[in-house]
Amino acid sequence: MNPADLRIVEVGPRDGLQNLSAFVATDRKTDLIRRLAACGIREIQTGAFVNPRAIPQFRDMKDVLAGVRSLQNDGVVLTTLVPNLQGARDAVAAGVDKLDFFFSVSRSHNLNNVRQTPQESIAALRQVLDEFKSNRGLAIRVNLATVFGCPFEGYLETAVILKYVEKTARLGVREITLCDTVGWGYPSQVEAILKGCLAAFPEVVFGVHLHNTRGLGLANALKAWETGIRVFDSAIGGLGGCPFAPGASGNVATEDLVFLFQSMGVSTGIDLDMVLDTASFLQGILPDTPLTSSLFRAGPPRKVPFGTEEGGKSDCVS
Ligand code: ZN
Repeated sequence: MNPADLRIVEVGPRDGLQNLSAFVATDRKTDLIRRLAACGIREIQTGAFVNPRAIPQFRDMKDVLAGVRSLQNDGVVLTTLVPNLQGARDAVAAGVDKLDFFFSVSRSHNLNNVRQTPQESIAALRQVLDEFKSNRGLAIRVNLATVFGCPFEGYLETAVILKYVEKTARLGVREITLCDTVGWGYPSQVEAILKGCLAAFPEVVFGVHLHNTRGLGLANALKAWETGIRVFDSAIGGLGGCPFAPGASGNVATEDLVFLFQSMGVSTGIDLDMVLDTASFLQGILPDTPLTSSLFRAGPPRKVPFGTEEGGKSDCVS
């Protein structure tokens, strides 16, 4: 297979499952992660090391990682989300290749989410880096939440975003993903913020984590691509979404993103048919959670024999 032109980071096992009230059994989580790897996805966010009382879905993280660590032999990078030093220690002990540290650039959202100010989160990040920077082979990505909008503070000034990118980059972090946590982003804004970041911090590899809550996920992804971004988070089936916003869809769906890029001739290294099979598997696990991805509902474009019922009625004129 040709080398991929971009990197898609599958976050479904984390972002997709974290809001589900029903616990997904450990063997189903590991089965899902294995199937995602078999699709050709080379980086998978397997869950989060956070307080299990806050998010009980991830109380089995150690067992999940034990069940999928053999994928590392095939070159699959296994990550987990961590908000602090304790989470990082637990993740490293469980054998991850990479830490996905996160905090919100909005003070209110960070206080609400992890009970820390952004400055306190940066202090925690420094602790994590101090403890693990000599740990050979361990990579650290920092995910900045609410970059494209905060439910408490609205749209943030670009200067605020750049301030936190700078504080993060100054600590030596070389991979930063900008997250549209609540799906407020729109293409011209995405372009402006990304251009500002890329110009100011050429040493950093930037990615985007987009939600399709208001239908602009793929438009934002395309704009990010055109601006020069080559790292994209996505979730199988478009799973996710805030439980307090009925009907809200979740992350940009992996299959929709792969379809977008493949149709443009961009190599993703990912087998679209296998992703759709994996989405069907996921729907089987979660029969009460309708998957929102367009490709899952409509399937890829395919021709049908002329004049058949399947081809549509002849009086469909528009
Ligand atoms: Zn998200």
